[in-house]
Amino acid sequence: MAKQMRCADVVPGCDYTAWAETEEELMELVVAHARTAHGIEEVTPEVAEKVQEAIQDV
Ligand SMILES: [Zn+2]
Repeated sequence: MAKQMRCADVVPGCDYTAWAETEEELMELVVAHARTAHGIEEVTPEVAEKVQEAIQDV
C-alpha cells in the first residue's frame, strides 16, 4: 500500500500532495517540500507529529 499526505492538512491553503511507496520516502518528500515551499528549515517534533497524523494509506 502506498502513502500519501496532503500538505493542506498541516499548512492550510497549500495544494501540494506528496505520494510515495513508503512512509520514509514520503517524509523525505514532505521535508523537501516544507523547505522549498514554506521555508521550514527544520522539521520540529510538533510538525513531524502533524505530518504523521496526515499520512493516509492509498
Ligand atoms: Zn505545502
